[in-house]
This record gives sequence, C-alpha cells and structure tokens, in this order.
Amino acid sequence: MFRWLDRAGGIHARTGQVCGEGLSWLANGLWYAIQPLYRISPNPSFTPAWSDKPLLKSREKFRPPLGVPREATSLCPACTREARQAVVDNKATPELFTRHHAGEIPAQIIERDGKIWMVKDCPKHGHFEDVLSTDPAFFKKMEEMDRERTFPCMGPTACTSTARARSGTGVVPC
Ligand SMILES: [Zn+2]
Repeated sequence: MFRWLDRAGGIHARTGQVCGEGLSWLANGLWYAIQPLYRISPNPSFTPAWSDKPLLKSREKFRPPLGVPREATSLCPACTREARQAVVDNKATPELFTRHHAGEIPAQIIERDGKIWMVKDCPKHGHFEDVLSTDPAFFKKMEEMDRERTFPCMGPTACTSTARARSGTGVVPC
C-alpha cells in the first residue's frame, strides 16, 4: 500500500506538470493573439484628478540615457526669471513655459575635480556652471534608482530630472 501511494503521487505530479505547461503555453498564445486587437482599440488610460492628460501606457514611457558625461536640457536662470516675470505681469501666459519652452537651453553634465557639474551657455546671458553633486558615485547610484522619468521629453535633447527639479516652475518639461 505504501508503494501504491508513492506511485500514485508520482503519476499525479507528472500529470499536473503537463497540465501546467499546457496552460502556460495556451496563456502565452492568447496574450500574443490579442495584442494586435489591443493596439487597434486600446483602453484609455486612467486620468488622475491632478492631471489633464491620461497616464502613459508602458510602451509610451520614456527613459533617457544615463551616465556622465552626457547631453541634457536645462534652464537659463536669467531667461527663466524674465519669463516668470512676464507671466506675473500678464505680458505672457504660462504657455510661455508649457508650449514655448522659455529659458530652455542645452547643457552638459560632466564630472570634473571629483564633482558632477552641469555646464550650459545661454546665447543671451552667457556661461553657467552648477555643482550637481560632490559625490559622483552617489550621484550615479541615485540616477539609476530614479523612477520618475516616465514622461516624454518635450525638448530637443535628453532631459534630466535635475533640470526639472531646479526649474521651480513645475511646468517646465523634464
Ligand atoms: Zn538666458
């Protein structure tokens, strides 16, 4: 009797494994079969109360290249100050930032003298340099862990979370 139970358990286990593999194969096949239909008529994404646009689908999310040195988009502090004042004085609308990218200039993120720097040149206001980090290893580690960069960059070059954080406007892209 003990041997019989052993044998029955073995048969049962083998049957379950075959069924599991079959179901897995079937599920994979169905998933690939419905993908074209999903792209034809995708469900709209959820739009949170704090946004006027829906959340991005995973295939729409953007992740810029990391590493130092690299090209980035930043803001000229003087141009940004002027644009903010224009909005405050009702000489411009916030579209100056959202649509026209006020103050946006190309920048480079570099490592120099044991620090991470952002260097940038505004054609109107000249050269700017900012220390982003005094610990390059920590900077690189934190960038790898950054999960927020999921919206597409609106500027011509790769964006940085640093530029977004430093903008202070909350509406400047990336
Ligand atoms: Zn400027």
